[in-house]
Amino acid sequence: MAKEREIKCDCGGILAEKSTTFDHFETEALVCPKCGFITLTKEQAQKYVRLRQMHQIMDAERKIIKIGNSMGLTLPDELQQFGAKIGSKVKTEALGPNSFKVELEG
Ligand SMILES: [Zn+2]
Repeated sequence: MAKEREIKCDCGGILAEKSTTFDHFETEALVCPKCGFITLTKEQAQKYVRLRQMHQIMDAERKIIKIGNSMGLTLPDELQQFGAKIGSKVKTEALGPNSFKVELEG
């Protein structure tokens, strides 16, 4: 990991890397502990843009369909930008009694 340089806020506080909610999305950002000012590094901004794209692609109501004797969900084509392709592995994990996540591997 590259050594982070300290970035000073206008109020004199030192910005700290923190997970924060920025424009409705949970993302890593630099936050001033004194005045609450939030900014993004170039890398964080790129990640944030990707996160927003992912939300635009994935946040939707979908229908469970029948595939052979199994149930299936279709995934939007745009997800290929994020490394998903036919035959690629995903990891599924329960989050709650009626919620689960699908994680792209690799
Ligand atoms: Zn500040």
